[in-house]
Amino acid sequence: MASYDYDIGILGGGAAGLTVASGAARLGAKTLLIEKEKNLGGDCLHYGCVPSKTLIRSAEVYHLVKNAGRFGLPAAAAEPVDFRAIAARIRSVIEVIQRHDSEERFCGLGAKVEFGEAAFEDEHAVRLNGKRVSAKNWVIATGSSAAIPPVPGLRETSYLTNRDLYSFDKLPESMVILGAGPIAAEMAQAFCRLGTRVAVVQRGGQILSNEDKDMADPVMNALTREGVSFYLNAAILSARNAGNGKEVEIKKDDGRIETLRAETLLVALGREANLQGLNLEGIDIPFDGKGLNLEARLRTVHKHIYGAGDVTGSFQFTHAAGYEGSIVVSNAVFHLPRKADYTFMPWCTYTQPELASIGMNEKRAKAAGVSYSVWTEEFKDNDRSLAEGEEIGRIKMILNEKEKPIGIQILGLRAGDLLGEWAAALNGGVRLSALAAAVHPYPTLGEINKKVAGAWLAEKIFSERIKKGLRFFFQLKGRACGTEDGGRKG
Ligand SMILES: Cc1cc2nc3c(=O)[nH]c(=O)nc-3n(C[C@H](O)[C@H](O)[C@H](O)COP(=O)(O)OP(=O)(O)OC[C@H]3O[C@@H](n4cnc5c(N)ncnc54)[C@H](O)[C@@H]3O)c2cc1C
Repeated sequence: MASYDYDIGILGGGAAGLTVASGAARLGAKTLLIEKEKNLGGDCLHYGCVPSKTLIRSAEVYHLVKNAGRFGLPAAAAEPVDFRAIAARIRSVIEVIQRHDSEERFCGLGAKVEFGEAAFEDEHAVRLNGKRVSAKNWVIATGSSAAIPPVPGLRETSYLTNRDLYSFDKLPESMVILGAGPIAAEMAQAFCRLGTRVAVVQRGGQILSNEDKDMADPVMNALTREGVSFYLNAAILSARNAGNGKEVEIKKDDGRIETLRAETLLVALGREANLQGLNLEGIDIPFDGKGLNLEARLRTVHKHIYGAGDVTGSFQFTHAAGYEGSIVVSNAVFHLPRKADYTFMPWCTYTQPELASIGMNEKRAKAAGVSYSVWTEEFKDNDRSLAEGEEIGRIKMILNEKEKPIGIQILGLRAGDLLGEWAAALNGGVRLSALAAAVHPYPTLGEINKKVAGAWLAEKIFSERIKKGLRFFFQLKGRACGTEDGGRKG
């Protein structure tokens, strides 16, 4: 039998790699984790989720201070932002979280951590820092980077990506953002709130294009009200450095050409899997810019080489990376065959209002040819939302023809947190009637979850048939006032 240095080797110490390393080591597998940067944690900790959400919170507080009058408070004088202080706060949050992702912690769990850039020598071994290291199983978890499309002049222009955003010495005076996905929308609002003049250029006709338009448009409207300019249906013709700033030439939907000028240019046009330089060609593993070609158990063409995280090209989120890492551990270490199932993979865009989604929305249901009905409730009818000063928002519940929930979208305050109840309910097959009957504390935003389920249940309980039955058996006398009002079906 062949002998290897390790039971499992992992390329990449981000969300996916760390999940595999901790799971495999704790199960007793001799585990090697290889990271090319000087710290573990990956994009999420250093250049993604953590710094962006920390920045968003600083921007939110600044926005609240500037709008104190809306809360019955005296107007406060908001001094201009010193970005170095925000960057220091971001660094301090990263530092705390970094302790969970330290080499020492993983060594304590039993995993060996090596730093360096590895590339495959053959199907069972990589070359790392001049040495050959072999493992019975390998996991490719090298993440993704900002995709840079072939826009004329762009590569020669000194643009920014998510890696550059959190360490400015001073707040940029102006920023053009290419793309209008979650990263673009979140950063547009945050920088605009801090005082940067922001313009967003989007090829399509709506922002957050994976979402239903009726849920994405209110996000764009909220950002527009705060001062972000949007150029929809705009083709990016070229980019260039111009003096101390940048210029982007766009063709608008009316055919007119306009030049946008700004101090900084942020490219947020999607992600490209980090698969170059691993010598995957040399071991015949097919891949493209989107990612690896994996089967449902996340195996490549070589059954002992797995992929997890952003390199799968499917759902590029930290929690998806963690989920995929757990699938790999199950298959490679536990030998318990498990397939990745993304039916109820949730996500959230952390603008204000937040936009969170799980399962099917109307776009996805239509594309899949699924018949569905839509049930909605508005945040303006939620007492807590009003108390918080937030009226924008809606929950949308999508039921299939058997009246089972197949998707939820929530637009509004703390939508991402509100989705947690649905993640449990949908994955656990909880009946809508159970959710509608569960007592929720008052006044909470979470009552909107109960209410939308209750609206569906109410149609069953307060039906003409039931009323007729009760009238017949118990001689109920019917309405004492007014006329019947309508239901809430969307
Ligand atoms: C601005 C921004 C905000 C985001 N916000 C959110 C959010 O709020 N919520 C959310 O769920 N997701 C968010 N994401 C996405 C999230 O960061 C990713 O989905 C997640 O980091 C993917 O984890 P991963 O393990 O696949 O990759 P990564 O975390 O990127 O880890 C990959 C690691 O592999 C290393 N590596 C690369 N090549 C090699 C090599 N040859 N050898 C050794 N190591 C190598 C890299 O250095 C890196 O450390 C955000 C992303 C960005 C850019």
